[in-house]
Amino acid sequence: MRKIIVAIDGYSSCGKSTIARQLARYAGYRYVDTGAMYRAVALFMLEDERCQGADGIERLVELLPDIHIDFAVQADGSQHTTLNGRDVEQQIRHLEVGNKASIVSSVKAVRQYLVKMQQEMGREKGIVMDGRDIGTVVFPKAELKLFLTADSQVRATRRYNELLAKGEKPVMEDVLNDLQTRDWRDTHREESPLVQAADAIVVDNSHLSEEEQLQKVIELFEQRCK
Ligand code: C5P
Repeated sequence: MRKIIVAIDGYSSCGKSTIARQLARYAGYRYVDTGAMYRAVALFMLEDERCQGADGIERLVELLPDIHIDFAVQADGSQHTTLNGRDVEQQIRHLEVGNKASIVSSVKAVRQYLVKMQQEMGREKGIVMDGRDIGTVVFPKAELKLFLTADSQVRATRRYNELLAKGEKPVMEDVLNDLQTRDWRDTHREESPLVQAADAIVVDNSHLSEEEQLQKVIELFEQRCK
């Protein structure tokens, strides 16, 4: 079977990384979470003293060549994001970092830097990548493009439960507001706004179980590999 590129785009917290990870495991493909890359840049900006002033974004852009992001595979097969060699998987998942990621991701130079890195990762195909612009900008020729969506209330409830499970104390109203703000920013920014690629297949998983969704996606994947 030929190796393909699978591009998965969609709104925040609609289960992109879950399905991307499951499909990559099924196919024996590499999985790349591009949201984690934007989050790592955001964490760098939050932590680096040089980026704290009013000109923080300008400093960040100058410092981009010093930002090295990678994924370290763990013994259980899961991946941890690394920033300049440091495991930052836990830190990048905080709400504050997610909000900052949604801001730094609207900066053209940041996008260009990360998109180039992502295209390099997919040079030999056999990859499942998820994000907001994978089917439109990173791999416009991907053989399979999925656009995931779910009702915002359903997504907020999922996100709320995830945060609870991590031991955080989320407030439902904040989680929903945060999600809607990020949706708005992602769809209204000038640089690579979140849009559905014309040839993407929409998967609305508001009322699908994980198993049902996986079966549907595997079928599409098998068709494209023929
Ligand atoms: O997917 P995740 O919530 O981890 O992404 C964090 C932020 O990074 C998003 O809110 C979005 O603004 C940005 N992002 C992006 N392009 C991607 C992936 C993520 O702009 N390909």
